[in-house]
Amino acid sequence: MREKLPKNVVSIDVEDYFHAETFSSVVDRTQWDSYTSRVEGNTRCLLELLGNLNVQATFFVLGWVAERFPGLVREIAAGGHELACHSYWHRLIYKLDPAEFREDTRRAKDVIEQIAGQPLTGYRAPTYSVTDRSVWALDILTELGFTYDSSIFPIRHDRYGIPGAPRAPFRFQTPSGPMTEFPITTFRFGGQNMPVGGGGYLRLLPQLYTRLGLKSVEKEGLPIVIYIHPWEVDPDQPHLPVGLKSRLRHYTNLSRTYDRFRSVLQQGNYTSFRESGLDESAKDFDFYAWNQHNNN
Ligand SMILES: [Zn+2]
Repeated sequence: MREKLPKNVVSIDVEDYFHAETFSSVVDRTQWDSYTSRVEGNTRCLLELLGNLNVQATFFVLGWVAERFPGLVREIAAGGHELACHSYWHRLIYKLDPAEFREDTRRAKDVIEQIAGQPLTGYRAPTYSVTDRSVWALDILTELGFTYDSSIFPIRHDRYGIPGAPRAPFRFQTPSGPMTEFPITTFRFGGQNMPVGGGGYLRLLPQLYTRLGLKSVEKEGLPIVIYIHPWEVDPDQPHLPVGLKSRLRHYTNLSRTYDRFRSVLQQGNYTSFRESGLDESAKDFDFYAWNQHNNN
């Protein structure tokens, strides 16, 4: 019998350049409408690439974007891609209380579902902000009808990450029902989890690093979950006045990312979460108990 190829997942976090957390100190969300939006053109550029490669992806769309550009949401759906939720206001979950999180998530889910005419089952937190301080959010996601989440980054980082969390998909019970988590891809090096293949890591780190890292993950037999933002393939976006660290984080290699992303897609077997069937391979793991134990 032929062994089934491991399915890897490609995901797009659909937001505009001024939504990035890097700019949260200089861009007030009540002023978002005053910025020149580039999300439609940039997302179409990625849609075209995916179409040419015959690859389906999961698009985690910001509710704010969906409301302003419903045609874009319909184009994504028409391309056979999966629509999923990336919150409404792109706020860090660990800075919200459960009621604020519930309200934000429900609003985004309703907006996108009404436009797309399909139920959303997947969620990705803004800036991967499901950390040991905000695992309660996973219970609320289940309560709202989500069946999977892809927000946990098992690395150490100043804004996100649960360093010791499982690196492979896992299923666990929340008080509201079962939830499957698809952690963002890492590979093991020098006893550490190293981020690879997504967003800033794809842009900032050498291509050789990405190639070797992804190869190492495949060797382990783990599925790869990569992500990109539409603004990451847009070297012509307006520059916002932020400090050096943020400038480096956001603007480095914008002109190279499109080619790098295409090359990653060409070297693996990628699809959407919906099509991947990965939820069937998720192992049971008592995540809430583990997290509680870790924080005591
Ligand atoms: Zn985001």
